[in-house]
Amino acid sequence: MKPARFEYHAPTTVDEAIALLVRYGGDAKVLAGGQSLVPLLNFRLARPAALIDLNRIASLAYIREHDGHLRFGAMTRQRTIEFSPVVARRQPLLREATRWVGHLPIRSRGTIGGSIAHADPSAEYPAVLTALDGDVVARGPKGERTLAPHALFETYLTTSLAPDEIITEVRLPALPEGAGCAFEEFARRHGDFAIVGVAAAVWREGGRAHARLATAGAGGTPQRLRACEDIVERDGLGDAAIDAAARRASEIVQPDSDIHASADYRRHLAGVLTERALRRARETARA
Ligand SMILES: Cc1cc2nc3c(=O)[nH]c(=O)nc-3n(C[C@H](O)[C@H](O)[C@H](O)COP(=O)(O)OP(=O)(O)OC[C@H]3O[C@@H](n4cnc5c(N)ncnc54)[C@H](O)[C@@H]3O)c2cc1C
Repeated sequence: MKPARFEYHAPTTVDEAIALLVRYGGDAKVLAGGQSLVPLLNFRLARPAALIDLNRIASLAYIREHDGHLRFGAMTRQRTIEFSPVVARRQPLLREATRWVGHLPIRSRGTIGGSIAHADPSAEYPAVLTALDGDVVARGPKGERTLAPHALFETYLTTSLAPDEIITEVRLPALPEGAGCAFEEFARRHGDFAIVGVAAAVWREGGRAHARLATAGAGGTPQRLRACEDIVERDGLGDAAIDAAARRASEIVQPDSDIHASADYRRHLAGVLTERALRRARETARA
C-alpha cells in the first residue's frame, strides 16, 4: 500500500520544526530514520496531515562526552553509534545493544531519538536508557524539559511527549572504568525485534559489586530489575547470587501474552536471559 496524502516539510532548525508542529496542532509527525514511521504510513496505521523531516537539521546529529555522560543528538544514526570509538570506550552496553537492532540498512537510517520516541517495548535502546538511568531532553513551544525513562515511557508505543515536542538529545552516564556489560536477547530470527531482552552492566567499587539491569519485551515499557540489582549488590557476583537474581527476575516481570509468546514464556526468558547477561557481564568486567 501507499501512504495517504501528506504535506512534507524539511526544516533546518529545531525552532522551525517546532513551529511547524504547532501549526498542524497535533496532526503532524516528525520523520527521523523512517524505519518505523514509514511502514506505519504505508499500512495507513498513521495518517498525519504532514511530515516534518528532521534529516536536514545538522545540529541534531552528534556524540559528545560531557561531565561523565555521553550525549547523543536525537538524529545520531544507530550505525554511527555502533562504530563510535567513544561509545566503545565509555558506553559499551549501548554499542552491544546496537548490534541487536534490525539489520545493517536499518541501522544506517534509524536514529537513537526515533528508537526512543517510538517506544517499542521490545526495542533495545529504551532498555539501555532504563537500565542506566539515562535522560531524554525534549523541546517544545514552552521550552525544554528533561525526562527520566519512567516519566517518558507510558505503555506500548506511547510516551509522555506532547505532539509538538521533539526529542533533541539522549544522555547516558558513561560506565565506570572496568565495568562489564552484556545485552542478551531471544528473537525468532536474527534482526527481529526481541521477544525478551535483558541489558546488564556490572562493576566493583569499594569492595562491592554494583549492577544495572532492565528488560525489553517483558511488558508495555522497559522494566528496571532493581530487586535483582539489590541481590548482586548484597551478595556479589558469584554463581549463587546470579542464580538468585535470575529467579527474582522471572518473578517480578509482568509481561503480557501476544501472538509471539505467552506471558509465562516471557517470564521464563526474563530469568534465563538475566542469568546469561549477568554471567557475561561478569566475565567482561575488570576488577
Ligand atoms: C525490519 C525491521 C527490523 C527492526 N528491528 C529492530 C530491532 O530489532 N530493534 C529495534 O530497536 N528497532 C528495530 N527496528 C526499528 C528501527 O530501529 C527504527 O530505527 C526505530 O524504531 C525508529 O527510529 P527511526 O529513526 O527510524 O524513527 P522513525 O521511524 O522516523 O520515527 C519513529 C517514531 O518516532 C517519532 N520520532 C522520531 N524521531 C523523533 C524525535 N527526535 N522526537 C520526537 N519524535 C520522534 C516519529 O514521529 C515516529 O512516530 C526495526 C525496523 C525494521 C524495519
